Amino acid sequence: MLSSILSKNTCAACKFCCSFRRQSLWETPLFPPEVAEKLSRPNEYGVVGEFAPASDGAQDAFRLVLENNYRTAAPEEEVPCTFLDPQKGCILKGEDKPFDCSIWPLRIMDKGGKLVIALTPTCPSIGAVPNQALIDLVKNGLGEKIFEYTKTHPYIVKEYREGFPIVYF
Ligand code: SF4
Repeated sequence: MLSSILSKNTCAACKFCCSFRRQSLWETPLFPPEVAEKLSRPNEYGVVGEFAPASDGAQDAFRLVLENNYRTAAPEEEVPCTFLDPQKGCILKGEDKPFDCSIWPLRIMDKGGKLVIALTPTCPSIGAVPNQALIDLVKNGLGEKIFEYTKTHPYIVKEYREGFPIVYF
């Protein structure tokens, strides 16, 4: 969804948002139940993931379980998403890719009860401050698309974090 300002090649070469330190596990993408179910069994991608409810008792969204993949206690150790191919990037087709991933580095967040669309400030390509092209893209349709998706998939809302510039509300 951001391909007009963030090329697929750039993302494929970077992969920053597809690897997670322990402190970033809150950012792991959330999958709808039917996709988690499909990917937790042998599937067309040849890669099986381990999933758990996104939160206690939740059945509307599932997160990838990556905790067991760390090999050291170092806080800077990163583990890749199960569906990241080191050469090709994400192996998932559009219909199976989490919405979270298709809008990254944007996030929809709850800031004191109000939903806002914010920029994750660590994307190496976009940078810490939203540029005009990103702002225009969000204002000219993408923002409403994200709000619309959130109505039926409220689990994609993250709690607001300081340092995430707000792009749209
Ligand atoms: S699902 Fe794909 S795009 Fe999302 S984190 Fe995993 S490899 Fe990256």
